[in-house]
Amino acid sequence: MENDNQYDLVIIGGGPAGTAAALYGVRAGLTAVIIEQMTLGGEICATDRLDNYPAIPDGISGVEFGLLLQKQMDNLKVPIIPARVEKVFFEPDLKEITTSMGIYKGKTVVIATGTEPNLLGIEGETDLRGRGVSYCATCDAAFFRGKTIAVVGGGDAALEETIFLSRFAEKIYLIHRRDEFRGCSWLQDKVLKLPGVEVLWNTTVSRIEGENKVSALQIVQDGADRRLEVDGIFIYAGRLPNTGFLEGVEYEQDERGFIITNEKMETSLEGVYAAGDVRNKFLRQVVTAAADGAIAATAAAQYIF
Ligand code: NAP
Repeated sequence: MENDNQYDLVIIGGGPAGTAAALYGVRAGLTAVIIEQMTLGGEICATDRLDNYPAIPDGISGVEFGLLLQKQMDNLKVPIIPARVEKVFFEPDLKEITTSMGIYKGKTVVIATGTEPNLLGIEGETDLRGRGVSYCATCDAAFFRGKTIAVVGGGDAALEETIFLSRFAEKIYLIHRRDEFRGCSWLQDKVLKLPGVEVLWNTTVSRIEGENKVSALQIVQDGADRRLEVDGIFIYAGRLPNTGFLEGVEYEQDERGFIITNEKMETSLEGVYAAGDVRNKFLRQVVTAAADGAIAATAAAQYIF
């Protein structure tokens, strides 16, 4: 560690992108720190299995992957600050990151904060969150053993988590607003073969009902209202970038707020890089997040030296 919490590379977010940035940064001779408010590993820790990473032929559990990242960071002696970033001040020659555990200063910064769930914004969703409304199958599936649940969405996450949830729930209504899935074809094939899964095409959820826990959904199917009795609902309606701490900072972003970078992961702010799901990109995967982190740290090292 340098004096006064000052580092060459301050990395915000400890998922695959942030940890890869630390790995490449340290190996390039930079001092690096990771600020992570949750568990190291990020979103992958809430994923049942990682099955599409090179050299891991049998897959690996999300939790195990997170533990390996932690071990790697420990080996490299990269400090992990368990803090929430509150605000940032970015000038070309000074970057100051105010966290719930003090101020960190960096010559460069890598933003690798990933995404958060996109809420449906319907009645009952917030009130019943944690009481039948969930955004994390790995965390909550076991509460729904032998029960009837709904999954909302048609992307990779909805399909993958439906497959996982089918090991617990007896019946799953997979609710999608269109008549074709967005998720990849091999996941579609698998989901459509599951005996307990019924796909409700052209359907949206208009209200989540329940006193103390979810008991039913009001849905609109092909334009007609219908009530569906369920014990829970898992929502996978896409994700939004975790960029709340950048409020007031002007930087290039796309129409949904994802950070725009160039091929070197440079943002429109000098010495500030973005890596992983938080940036505007074609493919959001662990392998591409790690690659982004490696590129960002290498570019940061070039900028510093
Ligand atoms: P996504 O691909 O953006 O899919 C979101 C789904 O939610 C879409 O089907 C969308 O419908 C639906 N949706 C959005 N807003 C809605 C609303 N208000 N009401 C109802 N439905 C709504 O998001 P994701 O599945 O979370 O995936 C995010 C990224 O992570 C993707 O790049 C994905 O490939 C990646 N990912 C990969 C894996 C894997 O490879 N194993 C696993 C998980 C995620 P429309 O289709 O009609 O737009």
